[in-house]
Amino acid sequence: AVKRAGRRQVRRYHPEQDAATERFQVLARDLGHALARRELSLRFQPVYRLRDLTPVKAEALLRWSHPALGQVSPAEFIPVAERVGLIVPVGEWVLRAACRSALGWPGLVVSVNVSPVQLLHPEFGATVRGALHDTDLPPHHLELELTETAVLYEDDRAAATLQELRDLGVRVSIDDFGSGYSNLARLRTMPITGMKLDRSLTADLTSDQAGSFVHALTRAALEIARNMRADLTAEGIETPAHLSALRELGCPLGQGHGLCRPITAPELSALLAAPRTAQPEGA
Ligand code: C2E
Ligand code: MG
Ligand code: MG
Ligand code: MG
Repeated sequence: AVKRAGRRQVRRYHPEQDAATERFQVLARDLGHALARRELSLRFQPVYRLRDLTPVKAEALLRWSHPALGQVSPAEFIPVAERVGLIVPVGEWVLRAACRSALGWPGLVVSVNVSPVQLLHPEFGATVRGALHDTDLPPHHLELELTETAVLYEDDRAAATLQELRDLGVRVSIDDFGSGYSNLARLRTMPITGMKLDRSLTADLTSDQAGSFVHALTRAALEIARNMRADLTAEGIETPAHLSALRELGCPLGQGHGLCRPITAPELSALLAAPRTAQPEGA
């Protein structure tokens, strides 16, 4: 009896756990209305060719402005959307909105993050085709970013869908490379056009430590990307030191707050119209 009471107590005295459960339920409930209530929007973060800081891509990043909670981070609400099945309609909205914006930037590739749950959905291929068809966006202007997961590397349906999308001409990149689950033997066989070096790696890069592990890992990623004829984007460039280290290593592309924060579509149009607006501080 003592034991049981103890256990009940343990459960009762974890208010932060109750709060997390309640927050999850609130987010899950309200996310169901977020689309119809126009609370979702996209920001775009330019991806630069590091050699001359020309913008060549833009990554679409989802934002949710909750009427009571304010800005909720995608790092928090995307997992909720995945758990309750809302990632499929939300993801389709993102794809269509990103494709529509991309039409205004003919020189850029627009990248869209795709959850493994979307990739595994039987209609995902058709959803991408539909978005391209309805917006008339040429497929090679769209890039899908897939985070490394067991699904990505080991699921046959995911592999078939990836090949189908590549056959259409859509670009496919591996997001957050070097930070999670990798399967290099399988990576070799995948039809990818790009890799994105996780920002935790960029954060450790400085020019004066050329012998460090993170330099070796970056060089390895560059070599793998070259071998696969894929491009490599460094995420999370925050300082001039990050930029110069990546340039010295020969990393072709990069993005980060030190170059440009995620901005609205009209802001990106203005940035593209005004040449050389985005100079990193100190570079
Ligand atoms: P991600 O795809 O790796 O996106 C990069 C994240 O790093 C973004 O966070 C971006 O705002 C942030 N970032 C960019 N530059 C810097 C920098 O210099 N320093 C730091 N510390 N951060 C930087 P955000 O927008 O909060 O998105 C977080 C994650 O949520 C994304 O990581 C992505 O996995 C997911 N996500 C965002 N939008 C979508 C979406 O439309 N669909 C799906 N499925 N996932 C999304
Ligand atoms: Mg991404
Ligand atoms: Mg990611
Ligand atoms: Mg990433």
